[in-house]
Amino acid sequence: MDTFRHKGLRNRLVKEIVEKGIKDERVIKAIGAVPRHIFFESSFIKFAYQDKAFPIGAGQTISQPYTVAFQSELLQIKTGDKVLEVGTGSGYQAAVLCEMGAKVFTIERQKELHFKSSLLLPRMGYKLGFFLGDGYKGLPQFAPFDKIIVTAGAPQIPEDLLTQLSIGGMMVIPVGSGDVQMMTRITRTSETQFSQEQFGQFLFVPMLKGVVK
Ligand code: SAH
Repeated sequence: MDTFRHKGLRNRLVKEIVEKGIKDERVIKAIGAVPRHIFFESSFIKFAYQDKAFPIGAGQTISQPYTVAFQSELLQIKTGDKVLEVGTGSGYQAAVLCEMGAKVFTIERQKELHFKSSLLLPRMGYKLGFFLGDGYKGLPQFAPFDKIIVTAGAPQIPEDLLTQLSIGGMMVIPVGSGDVQMMTRITRTSETQFSQEQFGQFLFVPMLKGVVK
């Protein structure tokens, strides 16, 4: 259930991310629309509208709202964009992308998380594709994508994902194998050329290989 109290808390969260520098109106609207508390176990609901990451089980976290907003803003989502998300986790970032009008394909390597989110989001009214698999490989059968978002820290930029970007397409990915990662945006400028920009340091759980059943 989404109550007035939840909406009030969400408005406060929206104010907070705007104060931290988020400008894209579509991102702001989406953060204001997605009931983040639905992604939490009931005993943790009071944490749902704090601008913090939070444990979701299987050793993983639901990303901090500011980080979700920041990556979504860097992606410059337009209605109808075909977007691949690596690291479904709770499904919160995927829901934000759906609210922004993207056609979302999301891939998760942990069966438990994949299963949970693939039940929850359709119940909330979001339509998107859920895949259990290794995000390092992407989804070649659905490529090319206008945008790719990686929500786990990648030691290096996965080659397979670059080849699944459309020309003019962009990938936003935190890159680094240590404790922090550099938020990186890669634009495919031609069949063979890519440009790179960097946007500061963030903290993600690591992008790992293989599938956990
Ligand atoms: N976008 C999520 C953030 C989850 S944290 C949210 O909004 O809640 C990152 C997720 O990436 C974890 O669930 C982790 O299991 C997953 N992950 C890590 N490596 C992966 C890989 N190679 N392929 C797919 N998912 C991966």
